Amino acid sequence: MKAPAPGTAYAPETEVVRLGRDPFRFDGFVNPPVVRGSTVLSPTYDDLVNHRGRYSYGRRGNPTSEGLETAISALEGADGTVLTPSGLSAVSVALLSVLKAGDHLLMTDSAYNPTRRVCDGLLTRYGVEVTYYDPLVGGGIAELVRPETRAIFMESPGSQSLEVQDVPAIVAVARDRGITTLIDNTWATPLYFRPLEHGVDVSIMAGTKYLSGHADLNIGTIAAKGRAWKQVIGTHGDMGICVSPDDAALGARGLRTMAVRLERHWQSGLEVAHWLQAQPQVARLIHPAMAGDAGHDLWTRDFTGASGLFSAILKPVPERALAIFFDSLALFGMGYSWGGFESLIIPFDCSAYRTATRWQTEGPAIRLHVGLEAPADLIADLAQAFVRMDEAAST
Ligand SMILES: *Cc1c(COP(=O)(O)O)cnc(C)c1O
Repeated sequence: MKAPAPGTAYAPETEVVRLGRDPFRFDGFVNPPVVRGSTVLSPTYDDLVNHRGRYSYGRRGNPTSEGLETAISALEGADGTVLTPSGLSAVSVALLSVLKAGDHLLMTDSAYNPTRRVCDGLLTRYGVEVTYYDPLVGGGIAELVRPETRAIFMESPGSQSLEVQDVPAIVAVARDRGITTLIDNTWATPLYFRPLEHGVDVSIMAGTKYLSGHADLNIGTIAAKGRAWKQVIGTHGDMGICVSPDDAALGARGLRTMAVRLERHWQSGLEVAHWLQAQPQVARLIHPAMAGDAGHDLWTRDFTGASGLFSAILKPVPERALAIFFDSLALFGMGYSWGGFESLIIPFDCSAYRTATRWQTEGPAIRLHVGLEAPADLIADLAQAFVRMDEAAST
């Protein structure tokens, strides 16, 4: 690709199309090739012993993974990015990179549940102490900091309960005390929230979700700055983590359409959410992009868009009627994931695992991922399932 003229600033939609591609390095082919390989040869003895090659060994990167890493680094404004084989491995590698035995970690109570397992199992076993905190604590996090606190982990919005965190307020506390901040930014992606611009040190994305966009890939990204970047690249390398070139190519392919897909998820999601809010079966919505939502002001201040993932609290209904509602849906698949082209739905109950905050709802909680189908079809699907649910509830 030709370098832009000096001073050119491209919009994110343009960046996802052009970043991480260099066609004339590869005889004009638009995408970097899927390079399969472990051994990398040096042309001369001198090149070999002086490590002159651009690549040294398959595990340490190749043109396919490098393209995606370069693109994510530019989008995140990071010093560097590593790829991991899943979103969860991105979380655990990032945490292992910045923590050691004897350290204390502050972890948001709204974290993705497998992230909690990393904390309560792996990290605890290796001598890291973990305290969960209220995601809405903001600058009040200062009261939870101890002399041995080395990292604060955020997830905003939380992947089921969707609380928006006051990232700048938390970062301000961490910065003053030399504490590393990390965030799981899967919901917004760097297209809609740029954590490193807000002073966060490490931004994690489960690329499995919107980067892939097609429910056919598990991949994670860790983008970082400064000292944290050195720690991440070191630990990632020592753990021998690498991603298959096919998966890196799928991730890069997803990136090219991520901006248009996200915008559609956002707009269709809002349309479905507004319809849901007006239904007699629904107590309330949890969607940061809706006016009146508890997180709306912070979302408006810090984010430039919303994804297609949000939650709704239903009015009390017997579980067998709720089951009829789920089983009656034709377009919403029941599955524990999101970010793909298709709509999904799950029931959830945060009270099963929360420890720092109390999760209380009027009735059953459901999480929806609005896909790329026509919103009118999705609304009609939900409407007929509500009719079946009401019938079941009244008999
Ligand atoms: C799905 C998800 C992950 C984990 O990604 P995997 O590829 O499934 O391991 C991490 N964080 C959040 C917020 C997620 O939704």
